[in-house]
Amino acid sequence: MTSVNTAVQLITRAQAEAAPAAGSTCSPALAEGPWVFDTPVPTYGPGASMADSAPAATPRQGELPEEYRRAGDDELDRRITAARQALGSRVVILGHFYQRDEVIRHADFVGDSFQLARAATQRSEAEAIVFCGVHFMAETADLLSRPDQAVILPNLAAGCSMADMADIDSVTDCWEQLAEVYGTEPDAEGRVPVLPVTYMNSSAALKGFCGENGGIVCTSSNAAAVLEWAFERAQRVLFFPDQHLGRNTAKAMGVPLERMPLWNPRKDLGGLAEQKLLDSRVILWNGFCSVHKRFTVAQIEKARAEHPGVRVIVHPECPMPVVDAADEAGSTDYIRKAIAAGAPGTTFAVGTEVNLVNRLAAEHPEHTIFCLDPVICPCSTMYRIHPGYLAWVLEGLLEGEVRNRITVPAATAGPAGTALQRMLAVRP
Ligand code: SF4
Repeated sequence: MTSVNTAVQLITRAQAEAAPAAGSTCSPALAEGPWVFDTPVPTYGPGASMADSAPAATPRQGELPEEYRRAGDDELDRRITAARQALGSRVVILGHFYQRDEVIRHADFVGDSFQLARAATQRSEAEAIVFCGVHFMAETADLLSRPDQAVILPNLAAGCSMADMADIDSVTDCWEQLAEVYGTEPDAEGRVPVLPVTYMNSSAALKGFCGENGGIVCTSSNAAAVLEWAFERAQRVLFFPDQHLGRNTAKAMGVPLERMPLWNPRKDLGGLAEQKLLDSRVILWNGFCSVHKRFTVAQIEKARAEHPGVRVIVHPECPMPVVDAADEAGSTDYIRKAIAAGAPGTTFAVGTEVNLVNRLAAEHPEHTIFCLDPVICPCSTMYRIHPGYLAWVLEGLLEGEVRNRITVPAATAGPAGTALQRMLAVRP
């Protein structure tokens, strides 16, 4: 397994061997404890999202007590193990695929955001669900778990820069402008002018917005089925926050690119001509994941030149030219299953977060597996969940204190739950 420290050494070595690509956001500063970046002014810190600007309302983490900041890896590992044993079935720890191995080794469940939210519902005896992922995931777990179960995010600064690119005010403003263009009357087939579809990677407020406006949530696994559901009910879709997942999915379904305009929330009418909106089939929000945006066609060409026969698999959050140049595109779960089912001796070049790619390489010595990006660059916000914070929240539970609880207000939870239930009813 590759620890985050090893990953940082790889970054440093790669930077020493070859100048990183222009615009590289990887940084040896990742070797610092993430508490260094829990500053009064919110930032995403070093890593893939470093160049993205964090909104002023981004949750901030209070100072981690010094004993946790000073503790070494072995001490934290012992303390987490001891706290888990003492808490027993009172706590369940969930670990996202993109987490560092030092955290993953303590997780009861490992998966993608939706798999983990569902896993939370399977431990009904747990009083506390410690979610080692990012903020929107903890919110989703809170939506799906019992009200008396406390969902805990070990570091409140573990947000998601992509989720932050669509906020409720901007989406509401967009929605009102679209209503002026389209009106609200259904067509002869009973389809409303537009329905909102939000990617799982969004705030509970946006899931609630979709629930209130006839819309739905999707994941990277079911985005096509969800779009089909929406097209049966609407003439077009407003898709947020990830433009790439929306574009890649709709394109694969046969929607022409010219009918997928990009909405810029900083401009009137999204910076689009009214006719463009009238002709649209999918209106894409101008959001993206800075981890997956790093992958390029040039990296794929290099992998093919250096590894004849390589199988290139990328995540659908990657830009469209990258998805088009790859052999396959799919969710983290798809990538894992494809590698597990590959013939021994296969070489895989993978375009997704490096912690997952390194773990897959360790789990599958029968294959050669490497990350498409030669300069390793973890997700900045996943990196915020350090074992020090995990030890701090677990020992807090032992002392009877629930630290960093994430609670979705009831007024949001109702409609957000509706949008999630609609998704669950859609195949697959
Ligand atoms: S990998 Fe991308 S989408 Fe996932 S948490 Fe990080 S920034 Fe958000």
